[in-house]
Amino acid sequence: MNDSIKQQIRDLLKKHNAVLLAHNYMRDEVQEIADITGDSLALSMEAAKTRADVIVFCGVQFMAESAAILSPDKKVLLPRPDAGCPMADMVTAEELEALKAAHPAAPVVTYVNSSAEVKAHSDICCTSANALKVVRSLREEELIFVPDRNLGRWVAKFVPEKRFIFWEGFCPTHERMTVEAVLKKKAEHPDALFVCHPESAPEVSALADHVCSTSGMYDWCRQSPAKKFIIGTEAGILYKLRLENPGKEFILASPALFCPNMKLTSLEDVLHSLQTMSPVVTVSEEVRVKARAALDQMLAVPRD
Ligand code: SF4
Repeated sequence: MNDSIKQQIRDLLKKHNAVLLAHNYMRDEVQEIADITGDSLALSMEAAKTRADVIVFCGVQFMAESAAILSPDKKVLLPRPDAGCPMADMVTAEELEALKAAHPAAPVVTYVNSSAEVKAHSDICCTSANALKVVRSLREEELIFVPDRNLGRWVAKFVPEKRFIFWEGFCPTHERMTVEAVLKKKAEHPDALFVCHPESAPEVSALADHVCSTSGMYDWCRQSPAKKFIIGTEAGILYKLRLENPGKEFILASPALFCPNMKLTSLEDVLHSLQTMSPVVTVSEEVRVKARAALDQMLAVPRD
């Protein structure tokens, strides 16, 4: 059954000159058939470089918007338009404008897990991988950081000279990973290293041997001489970790690490999207240009 669906998807991708992107948190079978897997921004940047006319984005709404911002000449399909991100929805452009009015001299650093409109009202974007470099690149001492309080507070620990105005947004999936769950796994696997995402609650990050983005997790686990890892991020990451590291063991830190939105997209949804060439995600040109400027500011920050 799946094989027939996969073949139909492949045929339609070819017919429409389309590229299939899957975020690291997607279902295994969706990652398996994707042309490119990765984190949200890396996917959009890779897709922009391709000659494809159509991007099929297996992820959530803000990711498809980022693809539309970076590839205005391509059609962007989001197979499940109901796949949102609760954290991205925790701040609106109006709320951000009110915060800016209260702190007019503070630049706004916006995590890419945000709507296109919020990005358009920001000075610079960041990812979980480059947030510290982005913050260090700012001349101002005071800054506004939205929407993720956990990523913001994690970065703030390394730049005590800066004053952060945090937004109290958070990822419900990562916040469901409790200290108790992690300590239980550590007790069951005393020989394992614990690595977690900076979207985790501070008291959980404090227990980690390493805190990093999803792309950082692939690199770190591959390069580490350790054989066993407790993974503190969404369960979808296990697919590629296990595929790329057959001699190593990966244990999910908590059974609660499933993002319901990331798990919505099925192969049937991908097929239906390609058959109907919908739903299309668009961003108005006014928002797109401003959001693109905030992303470009981030990309201009030297990597090292
Ligand atoms: S894992 Fe968290 S940040 Fe990612 S889409 Fe789900 S709720 Fe949003």
